[in-house]
Amino acid sequence: MVYKGGCACGDIRYEVQGEVIDASYCHCSVCRRVAGAPVVAWVTFPLAAFRYLRGTPAVWQSSEKAGREHCPRCGSALVFRVTDEDSVDVTIASLDQPESIRPEFHIWVENRLPWFETTDSLPRHWRGEPSD
Ligand SMILES: [Zn+2]
Ligand SMILES: [Zn+2]
Repeated sequence: MVYKGGCACGDIRYEVQGEVIDASYCHCSVCRRVAGAPVVAWVTFPLAAFRYLRGTPAVWQSSEKAGREHCPRCGSALVFRVTDEDSVDVTIASLDQPESIRPEFHIWVENRLPWFETTDSLPRHWRGEPSD
């Protein structure tokens, strides 16, 4: 599969050539602030599948091992990348066809905003994925 996406202002464009590993909603407080949204839907791809086509993202090192990449002009949250991991997380909402990928589970439900509730029956993990 080929997926394309980019930021709101158009300075940054990316392409993913590969298969989805998984997709989820993250309710953690860092994702919330980075996106300015109550929850962020992420899709995980193999690292080698992802490349930027245009523009250079700004990187905020949100923890010792993880960087969050966003557009330096419009601020769109695009990518979450953990050092030494062979996968990369992309914000589903920055895809050109965000409807093409559905989240499969929730993580960090511990931090879910009480006024934000979805009606799905997807698995809910109190913190990160059990495998983390
Ligand atoms: Zn932008
Ligand atoms: Zn998060």
